[in-house]
Amino acid sequence: MIRGREMESGHWKICFACANIFAGNNAEVLECPCCGSRVSAENYKLILNEAREAVYYGWDYRLKYEKDLEEKGRISTHYHLEQCEEVFNFIALAAASGIAGGLAYDTIKKVFTKVCAFVKQNGSPKEKSKIFSLIHSRENMDKFMQYIDEYYRCFESINEEVREAIFEEMIVDKISPTLERMILSQNAEIDMDRIKEISPFSEEEIFKGMIEARIEVTAGKRNKSASFENFWKNIE
Ligand SMILES: [Zn+2]
Repeated sequence: MIRGREMESGHWKICFACANIFAGNNAEVLECPCCGSRVSAENYKLILNEAREAVYYGWDYRLKYEKDLEEKGRISTHYHLEQCEEVFNFIALAAASGIAGGLAYDTIKKVFTKVCAFVKQNGSPKEKSKIFSLIHSRENMDKFMQYIDEYYRCFESINEEVREAIFEEMIVDKISPTLERMILSQNAEIDMDRIKEISPFSEEEIFKGMIEARIEVTAGKRNKSASFENFWKNIE
């Protein structure tokens, strides 16, 4: 499970100007060793977190819930999905900059090509199979682009039941770290997994969280075009 804005940043960083992928350190400013473009670590984290959320909720969870709905006619299981490989989030970032940010598809394709070349050389077998089965299938890639886009559009055209299930995941991820800290400060020995199972949220808390999650998703969409300004400007 990933947790709202607290999601962990990966070791690999992508340059927003030339799409070079390099090993990051803990500096306050990230500087691309290839083109010299600079971005604050804070800003980098914000932008990558948005892409991660789009992959996590808008792609992974959505696929799971749509499959359940199709096979069982209803959504009865909730999952705690693993976070995606960071290179996968780079692909989503490129997709988002094209659709939500309005950048030309030719440019986006160059970013995909650079990420693929990196994965080919440095990726684990799991990363390779995951990225290549997406990138090399026109059908999968179209679907991926569409789903990332719809995430930024607040799931306007998604099945209602799937949307509610995804929102519920977002709320649980958002609320639980705070509650967890409160409960643990009272009793360090407590079984947190059991607590999560019995879901300690009142309906009012869930409702408030849902509104907040909706506002956040919508705000993300509104700021999108501005935040992709100058992206991939040094790409060859
Ligand atoms: Zn660069």
